[in-house]
Amino acid sequence: MVLQGAKVRIRQPGIGLEFRHIRDAPRTLAGPVFPHTMSSTVMHVLVHTPAHAKMGSVLSYSHSTELPPGTLVRVPLGARETLGVVWDAPPHPAAAVGANKLRDIVGVLEGIAPLGASWRALLEFAASYYQRSAGEVALAALPPPLREINDEQLQRRLKRHAKAAQAAAEAPAASTPPPLSAEQSAALEQIGTQPGPFLLFGTTGSGKTEVYLHAVEALLQREPTAQALVMVPEINLTPQLEARFSERFAGRFGAHSVVSMHSGMTPAQRLQSWLTAHHGQARIVLGTRMAVFASLPQLRLIVVDEEHDPSYKSGDGARYSARDLAVYRGKLEGAKVVLGSATPSLESWYLSRPASEGGRYQRLAMPSRIGAPAGDKPNAGLPTVRRVDMNHQPRGVVFSEPLLNAIKERITRGEQSLIFMNRRGYAPVLHCAACGWKSQCKHCSACRVFHKVDRTLRCHHCGFTDRVPRHCPECGNVDILPMGRGTEQLEEHLGELLVDVKRPDGGAVRIARIDADSTRLKGSLEEQLAAVHAGDVDVLVGTQMIAKGHDFRRITLVAAINPDGALFSSDFRAAERLFALLMQAAGRAGRDASLGTPSDVWVQTYEPGHHLYVSLRAHDYPAFADTQLRERESAGMPPFSAQALVRAEARTQEAARALLDAAREVACNDMPQWPGWAEVLARVTVYPAIPSAIQRVANVERAQMLVESDSRAALHQFLGAWGDVLAQCRERPECRGIIRWAVDVDPLGI
Ligand code: ADP
Ligand code: ZN
Ligand code: ZN
Repeated sequence: MVLQGAKVRIRQPGIGLEFRHIRDAPRTLAGPVFPHTMSSTVMHVLVHTPAHAKMGSVLSYSHSTELPPGTLVRVPLGARETLGVVWDAPPHPAAAVGANKLRDIVGVLEGIAPLGASWRALLEFAASYYQRSAGEVALAALPPPLREINDEQLQRRLKRHAKAAQAAAEAPAASTPPPLSAEQSAALEQIGTQPGPFLLFGTTGSGKTEVYLHAVEALLQREPTAQALVMVPEINLTPQLEARFSERFAGRFGAHSVVSMHSGMTPAQRLQSWLTAHHGQARIVLGTRMAVFASLPQLRLIVVDEEHDPSYKSGDGARYSARDLAVYRGKLEGAKVVLGSATPSLESWYLSRPASEGGRYQRLAMPSRIGAPAGDKPNAGLPTVRRVDMNHQPRGVVFSEPLLNAIKERITRGEQSLIFMNRRGYAPVLHCAACGWKSQCKHCSACRVFHKVDRTLRCHHCGFTDRVPRHCPECGNVDILPMGRGTEQLEEHLGELLVDVKRPDGGAVRIARIDADSTRLKGSLEEQLAAVHAGDVDVLVGTQMIAKGHDFRRITLVAAINPDGALFSSDFRAAERLFALLMQAAGRAGRDASLGTPSDVWVQTYEPGHHLYVSLRAHDYPAFADTQLRERESAGMPPFSAQALVRAEARTQEAARALLDAAREVACNDMPQWPGWAEVLARVTVYPAIPSAIQRVANVERAQMLVESDSRAALHQFLGAWGDVLAQCRERPECRGIIRWAVDVDPLGI
């Protein structure tokens, strides 16, 4: 496999960005090199070096000709060959070793244009902000086949790709958009004329998607090469959205103008989408959080739908927030950014306060639902929220009488109800009343969940599963009992309660359940959702999965069975998440005004007076947000402080804690000799290490330590300098047994 130097040479103008610390200072394996005498050039190549390796991820290689930064190359790394990206010359000249040690670039990936300067800047920023190596972040952002296939295979793929792109694919005729509401027009006008970033604060059903569609359309028409990136939180929502975008645009801008990017696609599909976007044929990329790293050389607009959704935050590797990176990327590339939600994250809400108070986002409000008669009272068309005070219900009752009656009424009218509860399985614990045995997982500090369908006990953390024992494993008692409730039990219980209720056609009630268990098989979620849409289901029971985004037209009742847990959670974001979930769920109800029946949202609670439920009843997100923000401010929590969480995993809890304690000790006592450290430390609080909420998972002990500051800059100065300390502390004898550690910047769950 001998490849020639890249034929394409693209130089993008510099962006003038400055990074406070480039963590990956270059390390060369080569020494004084004299290109003119050796007729080869030293190239800096970004590769994915092992985590916490002592070398940076920009290495030096030689090549016969100079390659433009962004060129994809294959290089030797140790004994293997790996994908690399030609990187900009590092700010500090590389250290010199022996010239004979400089290894050659093996080959250039022909036919793929170099990655642009702003893409590279985005990756550098993401790596530095989230405390990872640039090599890791950049290589993870590229489609997997580029890493794995050889050049021959790649060339075949590229040929096939070119053919597919040329094929005169049948594009559907463009659908005509509906005339916009006054609120939609006003929002669009702002997006068209103001710089943003925008927070589109639009109630569910206010027509936010239509605003995105129009904004994208205006852009594509105005600029013949411009590209737009539209992100959604869930893979499940991309087909719906893709259909909507394709229907609108494929006819006018070509069948390949709309592509998707999410982890549910095959590697070949991902490569195809990536290339289409990278080479400019795709005008619109729809995707989940990973799409924020798509190479889009002509990016002009970024939309982040449901911007509050926690799934924009990555759960492993570089724990980046795609929403926050989207805003940064917009600034970097001069692209407009629109964040949309009916229940924005408190961070974004706070950032969109008036500019006179320091706000940086422009808030665009769309308070009315589409189809609600103009001039009607506020919240017209939104469902009525009913709270059931469970303190006045008989003990142990699951469905209060008024709720049950309301569900029955819907069934007899031929309408649908949606009941949700945030716990799957039949019961969270099995227990023996005689000896106190519990269905503890032997690998985790958690109980295994009882699944009645297949009579198993399953650990939801490590997956450990076995059959339900016939008798108590400790004392032999045969009466082992479920404790608590999950969706499976809810479904069963509801079946018993509704056994005598008839549908309008005289048939028996049909109850379905949708959760991670019922949708394990590929395609089963789509099937089940289709059944709901087709009206083959009267009552749908499920977890939060069913509350999000799906456009169920015939649902007129939504009920949350026992959501109070979030009010007392140690996670300070739990209430925010619950409010968003309930508002979302409420948004599922009454979407079809033509049904003519009023819709209800029922909440069964022991805390009916809690401000969360009071605001929910009034559909008043701003009131909820203001109360929450006041609480956060007085407690010095985000967005009034910046946080990072250091997590350590080890064979023993002692080792995990020892690493964190040692690093804390160094930060507070040894590092102050560093110039300027005292000032940084004065603004940063390093809390003592504690065991994680679930201390042991799959026999790995976990501990965590919170680092907090009222200044984001101080926090990052601290983390930048402190990263190496963690690596050094790991070598101490008391830290033997450490498996891994990582810093999570702006963590979501603490
Ligand atoms: P949101 O994303 O704010 O919840 P959607 O964009 O999904 O709302 O719109 C809700 C429904 O209203 C959709 O069925 C959509 O097709 C419809 N819709 C949106 N804008 C208009 C409009 N201007 N005229 C008529 N129907 C509209
Ligand atoms: Zn027992
Ligand atoms: Zn387990």
